[in-house]
Amino acid sequence: MTLLSTGTIVPSYVLDSWWTPADGSRTQLVLDASTGEEVASVSSEGLDLGDVVEHARTVGQASLGRLTFHQRAILLKRLAQYLSGVKEELYTLSARTGATRYDSMVDIDGGIGVLFTLSSKGRREMPNSQVYVDGDVEALSRDGSFSGQHIYTRIPGVACQINAFNFPVWGMLEKFAPAFIAGVPSVVKPASPTGYLTEAVVRHIIASGILPPGTLQLVSGSARDLIDHLDYRDLVAFTGSAGTARVLKAHPNVVEGGVRFTSETDSLNAAILGPDATKGTAEFDAYVASAVTEMTSKAGQKCTSIRRLIVPAGRLDEIVAAVAERVERRVRVGDPRADGVTMGPLASLDQRREVLSSVARLVEGGGRIVMGSTDAPAGADPNGAFVGPLLLAFDDADSPAVHEIEAFGPVASIIEYTDLDHAVSLAALGGGSLVATVATHDPNVARALVLGIAAHHGRVLMLDRVDARSSTGHGAPVPHLVHGGPGRAGGSEELGGIRSVLHHMQRTAIQGSPDMLTAITGQWHTGAVVQHGIHPFRKSLAVLRVGDQVQGGPRTVSLADITAFAEATGDRFYAHTDAEAAAANPFFPGIVAHGYLLVSWAAGLFVDAAPGPVLANSGLERLRFVTPVSPGDSIRVTLTAKRITPRETEDYGEVCWDAVLHNQNDEVVASYDVLTLVSKN
Ligand code: NDP
Repeated sequence: MTLLSTGTIVPSYVLDSWWTPADGSRTQLVLDASTGEEVASVSSEGLDLGDVVEHARTVGQASLGRLTFHQRAILLKRLAQYLSGVKEELYTLSARTGATRYDSMVDIDGGIGVLFTLSSKGRREMPNSQVYVDGDVEALSRDGSFSGQHIYTRIPGVACQINAFNFPVWGMLEKFAPAFIAGVPSVVKPASPTGYLTEAVVRHIIASGILPPGTLQLVSGSARDLIDHLDYRDLVAFTGSAGTARVLKAHPNVVEGGVRFTSETDSLNAAILGPDATKGTAEFDAYVASAVTEMTSKAGQKCTSIRRLIVPAGRLDEIVAAVAERVERRVRVGDPRADGVTMGPLASLDQRREVLSSVARLVEGGGRIVMGSTDAPAGADPNGAFVGPLLLAFDDADSPAVHEIEAFGPVASIIEYTDLDHAVSLAALGGGSLVATVATHDPNVARALVLGIAAHHGRVLMLDRVDARSSTGHGAPVPHLVHGGPGRAGGSEELGGIRSVLHHMQRTAIQGSPDMLTAITGQWHTGAVVQHGIHPFRKSLAVLRVGDQVQGGPRTVSLADITAFAEATGDRFYAHTDAEAAAANPFFPGIVAHGYLLVSWAAGLFVDAAPGPVLANSGLERLRFVTPVSPGDSIRVTLTAKRITPRETEDYGEVCWDAVLHNQNDEVVASYDVLTLVSKN
C-alpha cells in the first residue's frame, strides 16, 4: 500500500466501496504540518449520507447480527494483530500531521491497544451470545412465578463518530471497538486536517478482509447534514470543540428525535501539587516531569493535557524554574522527521492561529508569560505550524480566564492555592474536566483533594513515589476506565471498559415467568423448567443444556464431622469448637458446621467422579451462607446448569452452575455459582 501522493483526494469508504467526488468538486487542501506542503485534499461533495446511514442500518446491522459478542471480539483482536503489522507505514504518514514518533505511538499503538483490550474484556466479561444480562433477577411475586430482569440488546441503528483532528487513529478506534462488540455498525467522520491518516488505517482494515460488510464506513470531508438522517435508533459520539458540540446537540433530531448524543469537548485539566511535595521529593520531580510531558506530547493537542498547574502559595517561582529547566534540557521543537526533535508543530496553521489567539486572551485575562514566547521557535520552518512550549502565571488564581480559556497547544498556566479547600475550589472552576493529577504522598492530603475534586472530574490520577514510574500518566486514558468528564468536558463518561459496549445498547426491563426469562436471556432462572436424566457432568457442551440438573444428598452432619474438619483444616473458630462461646453468639444456636465443610460436602454430593467432559473447577462466585447447620441437621444439594459460554477459539467452554444447599426443613443453607470448564465434545 502506498502513501498519499500530491494531488490525491482522500477517498471515503461507503456502501462497502471506495468513493471519490466527481472531477471539479470543491475540495479542501490539507497541508503538511511542518512544511506547509500539500498532502492531499478532502471533499465529500456529492456523497449521499442518507444512503450511508441506510447501508449501516441494513447491511451492517444484518452482518453484525449474525455474530455473538465473543465472535465480534475475536474479529477485533485479529484486526489489532493485522494493524500491528502495518504500523511503520502509519508512523510515516502520521509525521505529516506534526506527530513525533512518540506522539504517533500514543495515537496508533494506543488505538490498536484499545482493540486488544476491549476484545479481551468482551470475551471475559460478556456472554458468548447477543443478550447481556444486567444485574440480578428481581423477585416480583411471592411464589416465584413472576420476576424481572434487566437485559441489554444492541441499538438498531448506526453509531456515528465525529472525531477531532488530534487523534486520527485512536479517536476512531476507541469508539469503533465498543460499537463493534455491541453489534452496531459505525460511520466514522474524522476531522478534515488529519483525516488522511484515518483513511490510511481504514484502507488497511478493509484490505484485511476481517470486517463483515457494512460494519465500517468512512466519510472523508465534511458531513454537515449527517444528523439530518438520524433518529432515536442511532447514536452520535462527538469529540471536538464545545462550540460545535453546542450546534450539533441543538439539532431537532437530537432535541426532538431522540438521537443519542454524547460529546467530549474542551477541558481545562488541573494538576495539583500537594503541600508535602517539596523540592527534592519524588512527587515534586514526577509533577514537573508530568507538566512538561503534557505540554509537549502531541504539542499539547490532547483533550487530557494539563492546562492548569495548581501549586502551594509561595512556590510558583520554584516550579516555573523547574519546568523551564526541564523544557530547556529535554524539549527540541521541529519537524518530527528530523533527528533529535521531541516536539512537533501543531496540526495546522489554523490551529496555530487559534492557539496564539487563545494565548493573547489569557494574557488579556491577567496571565504573564513566564516561560517561552509566542514567536516561532528558532530555526522552525516559517511554513510550519510551530509554537514552542508556553507557561503563563496568574497572580489572581481565581481569574476567570485561566479556568475558561483552553489554548489547545503546548500551553499551560500556573496559579497558587492558599489551602486545600482553595485548591479544590480552583480545580472546580474548570467547570468539569476530563482528568486531574494530584501529586502527594500524604494520604490525608490525597483524601481531602480527591474527594473534593472527584465530582468535577471523570478521572483522577494520584501521583507519588510509588507509582511515578509505573503510572500510565496524566494524559493517557486507558480503555479499562472511564474516559470523559462532566460539565465543560462534554458531560459524558461512556467510554471505558464494558460500559462503553453497553453505551451502544438499550437496557430493557423484562418481566415474566422464569421460563420466559430463561428463553430470552439464555440463562437459567430459578423456577424455570429443569431436565433430569443422564448426569450433567457426563455431557459435553454439544449436548449440555441450561436447566440440566442433578440433586444430591441428604447427608447428616455430626459433631464429630465438625471437629474433624476443624482439626484437619486448622479452622478452630469458636463457633465450630466451643459450645458455650458459640451459643453466646447472636447468629448461632450453638456449635455449627463450617460453611466450607458444607460446600466441600456438596461437591461430594453432586460430582460425577469418572473422567469425562468436565475438565476443571475454575472457581465459585456469589457464595452466601444463609442458615446455620447444627450437628444432627442434614443437607442436600441441587446443581443446575445456569449459563453456558463456549470459547470460540478453544475446544472447551465455561459452564456456570447454580448451586443451592437446603437443610432437612427445606430452608436454604447456602447458595453459590460453581464455574467449570467443560469440553465441547
Ligand atoms: P471542531 O469542533 O471544529 O471539529 C470536530 C469535528 O466535528 C470535526 O470532525 C469536524 O469536521 C466536525 N464538525 C464540525 N462542524 C460540524 C457540523 N456542523 N456537522 C458535523 N460535523 C461537524 O474541532 P476541531 O477538531 O477543529 O478542534 C477545534 C478545537 O476543539 C480545538 O482547538 C480544541 O479547543 C477543541 N478540541 C477539544 C478536544 C477535546 O477532546 N477536549 C479534542 C479536539 C479539539 P471538519 O474537520 O470536517 O470540519
